[in-house]
Amino acid sequence: MTPGGRFRGVPELPELEALGERLEESFAGASLVGIEPLGFSALRSVDPPPGRLIGCTLRSVARVGKYLVWDYGSLRLVVHLSQGGRITIEDPPKRTRPKGGVVRLRFEDRPAILVREYGTERKAGWWVLTPGDEGPLARLGPDPYSEEFAALILHGDDTRRVHTLLRDQRTVAGIGRGYADDALLRARLSPFATLAKLSPTERRRLLDAVRSVLDEALATERERKGGLPPKLGDRFSAHNRAGTPCPVCGDGLRRISYESHEVTYCPRCQSGGKILADRRMSRFVK
Ligand SMILES: [Zn+2]
Repeated sequence: MTPGGRFRGVPELPELEALGERLEESFAGASLVGIEPLGFSALRSVDPPPGRLIGCTLRSVARVGKYLVWDYGSLRLVVHLSQGGRITIEDPPKRTRPKGGVVRLRFEDRPAILVREYGTERKAGWWVLTPGDEGPLARLGPDPYSEEFAALILHGDDTRRVHTLLRDQRTVAGIGRGYADDALLRARLSPFATLAKLSPTERRRLLDAVRSVLDEALATERERKGGLPPKLGDRFSAHNRAGTPCPVCGDGLRRISYESHEVTYCPRCQSGGKILADRRMSRFVK
């Protein structure tokens, strides 16, 4: 399932939040002296040209959804790592043009930052935004820690499956397949549960599960140093762990193909002991 096999894991909110913190700590106050577009189509904005950032001082790096937003005063640089995008701190800076290169940032008296995409897909991208232009950020829903998201989960009548809703960046920004699987196990909800049909208790459990799963992952990610490596390590309690014991009850975790990907769940904890069926199962799951 891993395209290219050279990277493992997709960065979600915790990985990106902690990465933004590390980058801000190491690079805030640094003046940008060079910006090298490396990927053919990775630069997604047309105007202003990236060169306008040269000479600007980096003020902060923030995470918005799964994007990193580098504040250079009036201009902002936005980076989206997508699935296989990673960040290397180059000390000393290099001049190479690595395969999958996205962009390299050079700073005065600091290491360089290389954004590079592993695997075969070319989805990672970057934007240079003028004040008032939100670029790709305009399409994002609220953060999982926001009141707006809490109101949606506690009172919303969205009829979609919760797993779908949690991964929809326009509904809530920052969660992907990994932490959606883990949050549903913690909330003891079926991946096929729909929000509108949840009881008040289940809704509260879901909100608490989403936030506590992300909190714990963020605490772990804050132990990481440097950039973000190709292999992110074992971060999940349920996701991608089908066939291993459920960390809650010890029964075997199972997987089911759903909306062109696989969801991992525990029948005993999440679906009343029922093995979820799906027409494509025989083709995708052994
Ligand atoms: Zn279980």
